[in-house]
Amino acid sequence: MGFRLANVDGRASLAVGDHYLDIETASFGSIGSDPAEALAAPHALARLAASVLPDMQTGLIADAVFGPPVPRPGQVFGVGLNYRNHAAEGGMEVPDVPLIFTKFRSSIAGPNADIELRSEYCDYEGELVVAIGISGRDIAVADAWNHVGGMCVGQDVSDRAVQMATSPPQFNLGKSFDTFGPIGPFLVSPDELDDPSALRITTQVNGEIRQDGSTADLIFDIPTLISYLSHITTLHPGDLIFTGTPGGVGVAQGLFLADGDVITTTIDGLGTMTNRCRRITDHPNASTIPEGWRAAWKASTHD
Ligand code: ZN
Repeated sequence: MGFRLANVDGRASLAVGDHYLDIETASFGSIGSDPAEALAAPHALARLAASVLPDMQTGLIADAVFGPPVPRPGQVFGVGLNYRNHAAEGGMEVPDVPLIFTKFRSSIAGPNADIELRSEYCDYEGELVVAIGISGRDIAVADAWNHVGGMCVGQDVSDRAVQMATSPPQFNLGKSFDTFGPIGPFLVSPDELDDPSALRITTQVNGEIRQDGSTADLIFDIPTLISYLSHITTLHPGDLIFTGTPGGVGVAQGLFLADGDVITTTIDGLGTMTNRCRRITDHPNASTIPEGWRAAWKASTHD
């Protein structure tokens, strides 16, 4: 049996059915209130979840405001072009090795946080996010699932103007604006899921389905990504991997996010995030996007 970890008012909580319980209280202080500390003890969390009694509930999930289940990750990785249909819609070749970039942890936000747009060229990317539970280095592919603390829904929100402001393009800054990494609502341990390798993932904008994929279609699957990264840098509890987005991103259709848009992101078994967009002040490249790049997107999708 596994667990569903949540962050309620900054405190580590277990989601059980329609209610949640405060982990420090329920464990009589043996697990602290810091969500990062709780994630680093996945076996203790699973034992606690298995021993929960009906009268231990702290509150109803419907009444709770969730923060990001990993509020201060040490490292945040993203994976580019990890679904064939997304690579195709960008006119890109499928990479031979994982295309890794980083997001700054200051981009991490809660599952219902507003997303602050600073240009007319911001885009959604619904993604499965994996959180490390047990640290490791040089992790074998066959051993990688043992290092996963949990998985959650995420959005790798992307400002395409900043992403493409330079040639060659670079991903890190355009995907690292404050609020560009909402995650949640729960961090679900893999053993809570029938098949953690095949989860349906959808992104809706204002109720219209834009992305509808399955994590079974990842080009580099979760064990491969963990093994690859761990041969470069030691992975620590709470490190996050945004595993890539399926086809249907806005830029491929000429559809960018606007003030008031509501993004609904769902992964079967992991839950739903709902994020409203707010258009705030411009960044320095806000009004331009390289024309050649737009043409390349159009050619790849309309020819
Ligand atoms: Zn992405």
